[in-house]
Amino acid sequence: MAEPRVGGLTPLTTIDFPGRLAAVVFCQGCPWRCVYCHNPHLIPADAATDWSWGKVRDFLSRRRGLLDGVVFSGGEPTLQAALPDAMREMRDMGFEIALHTAGMYPDRLAAVLPLVDWVGLDIKAPADRHDAIVGAPGGHARVMASLDLIRASGVDYQCRTTWAAELYGEAELTALAESLARRGVRDWSRQPLRGGKQ
Ligand code: SF4
Repeated sequence: MAEPRVGGLTPLTTIDFPGRLAAVVFCQGCPWRCVYCHNPHLIPADAATDWSWGKVRDFLSRRRGLLDGVVFSGGEPTLQAALPDAMREMRDMGFEIALHTAGMYPDRLAAVLPLVDWVGLDIKAPADRHDAIVGAPGGHARVMASLDLIRASGVDYQCRTTWAAELYGEAELTALAESLARRGVRDWSRQPLRGGKQ
């Protein structure tokens, strides 16, 4: 079995998987270059790290019965072809699964949604701001396709948007929230830009 590249692990979180005690696995590698990325060390797909999937497996095998779930975060977990097998392995160990994703790979997201109990979907920016904020073209339409897949799947989810006034105006943020509500989103959260003005 191919194994995911791992950049780090948080052994216990009470906030990254609603209602569950969980560990967070930070997947190594991301195709985007967000202007405010807080984990730039997780962007290079081939960066050397102190972690391996084997170390994660060993750690979590000792947490069975103590943790409810495992969160796959990043980086961008869906970048990695090994993600479905890694999720299945954690499910087989008895954990519920959460996914944090920026939604740029709707086809890969569709493949793992049957394995996932909760999704945190980043909506990085309004359509006309998206390319500049994520540093890559054409992402917004793919994120909206991912959102529609999540909604159609019935998997519980939350949309999150990191915002600060220096990124774009509050009126644009409000328009983004309204457009998501029209699309059927009932759980959207504005998140502060670390170090940014609110
Ligand atoms: S999608 Fe996430 S990990 Fe990737 S560059 Fe943006 S903030 Fe960083």
